[in-house]
Amino acid sequence: MNTFLDELNDAQRAPVLHKDGPLMVIAGAGSGKTRVLTYRIAHLMEQGVDSFNILALTFTNKAAKEMKKRIATIVGNSEAKNLWMGTFHSVFAKLLRFDGDKLGYPSNFTIYDTQDSQRLIASIIKEMGLDKDIYKYKQIQNRISSYKNSLITVKAYFQNPELVEADAMAKRPRLGEIYQNYVDRCFKAGAMDFDDLLLRTNELLTRFPEVLMKYQDRFRYILVDEYQDTNHSQYLIVKALSDRYQNICVVGDDAQSIYSFRGANISNILNFQRDYDDVAVYRLEQNYRSTKNIVNAANSIIAKNKNQLEKVVWTSNGEGQLIKIHRSVTDAEEGRYVAASIFESRMQQQMQNGEFAVLYRTNSQSRAIEDALRKRDIPYRIYGGLSFYQRKEIKDVLAYLRIIINPKDEEALKRIINFPARGIGQTTIDKLVVAANHYGRSIFEVLEHLDKLNLNINSGTKRKLEDFVTMVKSFQIMNEGADAFTLAEHVAKKTGLLLEFKKDGTPEGIAKMENIEELLNGIKDFVEGQKELADATGALSEFLEDVALATDMDKDVGDDDRVALMTIHLAKGLEFPHVYIVGMEEDLFPSAMSMNTRSELEEERRLFYVALTRAEKQAVLTYTQNRYRWGKLIDAEPSRFLEEIDEEFVENLTPINDGYRYKSMIDTNIFGEVDKSKLRQIKPRNGIPPTVHKPNENQLRKLRKLKPELSAPANNTNIVDSNLAEGSMVNHTRFGKGKVLKIEGAGNDKKAEIQFERGDVKKLLLRFAKLEVL
Ligand code: ATP
Ligand code: MG
Repeated sequence: MNTFLDELNDAQRAPVLHKDGPLMVIAGAGSGKTRVLTYRIAHLMEQGVDSFNILALTFTNKAAKEMKKRIATIVGNSEAKNLWMGTFHSVFAKLLRFDGDKLGYPSNFTIYDTQDSQRLIASIIKEMGLDKDIYKYKQIQNRISSYKNSLITVKAYFQNPELVEADAMAKRPRLGEIYQNYVDRCFKAGAMDFDDLLLRTNELLTRFPEVLMKYQDRFRYILVDEYQDTNHSQYLIVKALSDRYQNICVVGDDAQSIYSFRGANISNILNFQRDYDDVAVYRLEQNYRSTKNIVNAANSIIAKNKNQLEKVVWTSNGEGQLIKIHRSVTDAEEGRYVAASIFESRMQQQMQNGEFAVLYRTNSQSRAIEDALRKRDIPYRIYGGLSFYQRKEIKDVLAYLRIIINPKDEEALKRIINFPARGIGQTTIDKLVVAANHYGRSIFEVLEHLDKLNLNINSGTKRKLEDFVTMVKSFQIMNEGADAFTLAEHVAKKTGLLLEFKKDGTPEGIAKMENIEELLNGIKDFVEGQKELADATGALSEFLEDVALATDMDKDVGDDDRVALMTIHLAKGLEFPHVYIVGMEEDLFPSAMSMNTRSELEEERRLFYVALTRAEKQAVLTYTQNRYRWGKLIDAEPSRFLEEIDEEFVENLTPINDGYRYKSMIDTNIFGEVDKSKLRQIKPRNGIPPTVHKPNENQLRKLRKLKPELSAPANNTNIVDSNLAEGSMVNHTRFGKGKVLKIEGAGNDKKAEIQFERGDVKKLLLRFAKLEVL
């Protein structure tokens, strides 16, 4: 009868059928966690749970859409529509539209994206007269963001002397003030940034018990995918909402926790059993995604991590091909190899472009791959990076649309008040900002009351400002009747935006105009699509919300057949028949920024585990011996991760065959030199030259701090060595003047016994002693 339950194995069916109460599914990659979540929702609905009472939180909105589609095929379309499903940000933005007024936000609040936040912070720094080289707006935005994600409000910040002191030590004593101003300005603009969507939800649920009760009662069943990457703020929301019914189902894999740099906290998954009573824990062990070679290779990698939950992953899939390793001489050659290899597989195995993915550690690596794919006419799509909606001309159009919905939106207003140029200069805008700050109002409100305020703006400019206000108001009136597309098209024409780029006449100008047309097409699609949905109207505000909350994964247009290029972080949860992981080199992957501690290195290793487990049939790992980085050609060394895979699962297409090689056991000394006395012979593994793990600058600094006497510059010792004799007078940086009594030993062990003027006799190792011969 229940045919869809037959599409699960026994271990998967158990959590799907689990009745009420908290449950957690912990399992390795590709074992069906997401499938369990999807089927559990379908099952709940079949059991008569109202879709209205279910909340599901996913990693991308696209994943939510796909899940909804699957559920719709199981339980019928009309039911699935009412499910609240999406990323934390999009779900709680929706909640705040209903109840954010209790915190003083309008229901039409704008969502500031990272760029808006950064621009606002930059202008606050300027207004405060601070040095922009010390107060770097991007860093500050980052810092404020991490405070918010840890629920450190401005008040909490000032009450925490440690934080205040840390920023003072970092020579940014006024960071707290910037934070304060930033929060005030966002509030006044009727805007929330991404972090606010979680922070304010928490605030709402804590301060207003009746709101909390309403949503506790509504969301009787809460399900969270990728639970290992939730941050503190998200954790608290889920905890609060599920507190009453305790019907909380989380699925995740601690081995795939890769977002700690954004505040994700792996302990959320580790502590789940402590946080709820009677947690049922389910484990899935069978991987359905990948071949035996891929599953076992991935297992051999993750086993190198100390911190992890015990887990078994096996598959009944075929052995498949070995994991391939390929070396090239330059990154350009690496790109050509990947393109050629895709080309060949596509021909020989009749594959589609969409069955290939190229994954990398950092966005900048995509260029060489793109060049090579283009040369072979292989269509591709890049996910992440500068997205369509981030382009200047698109943000300009969107800014007009945002102003229509929320005229207080300061960042949108500043973008377009004089674009296209209408003779409103920066001085005027500065005056408006000052007045707005002074009266505690938005810039638009100041504009509306220009005649009553004495802002020292000449009558010509005043008229231009009034024209601007009239124009925005006419759009607002139109918005009451027209759909998003009709309005947007009208705005693009009426404001002169389209004309502005057409006039420009350059290829860039034309490209920009085409982009705006593409945006309009997108809005049209959106309006058409929304007509099918019960609670949507195709209104402009809904489109803007969609755009603001699209994750990097969601921002794709159309479903045509293309090779996917993306960072490993973005690839989480996805699967592709053939996966290329490029740039398998030390300092790149693992990243040079993440090798300072064991836990950072373990996170890099988890990232490698995520990358490898995206592959269904074939994984190819490539590295190059030379790579352009920061505009320079540098020597690259193969990644340690290449050595870490069990040999039996690897085939090296380009092995280094010079037999036994030297490798240092404790790697290098504190000067970063290979310590020859510690060398031993070692056989290369997996056909790659053995890696010498050089300590990075940070580690060297730490080592030197621990043993300061070891930091003597090498040349110092030479001078001392050459003309130091018994009877010499010397000066020591710390002990002062003294006379050499005796010299003994030789080479590295050469020592001098010195009678210091202040009274004591010391025996010093000349190699390190900071001695000056007088
Ligand atoms: P990840 O850790 O990467 O997020 P996951 O545990 O969520 O992986 P899924 O994406 O749910 O795994 O499943 C992996 C693949 O295996 C999917 O293609 C899914 O459709 C398939 N699959 C899962 N369970 C079964 C099953 N019982 N029978 C057939 N296919 C299955
Ligand atoms: Mg999954």
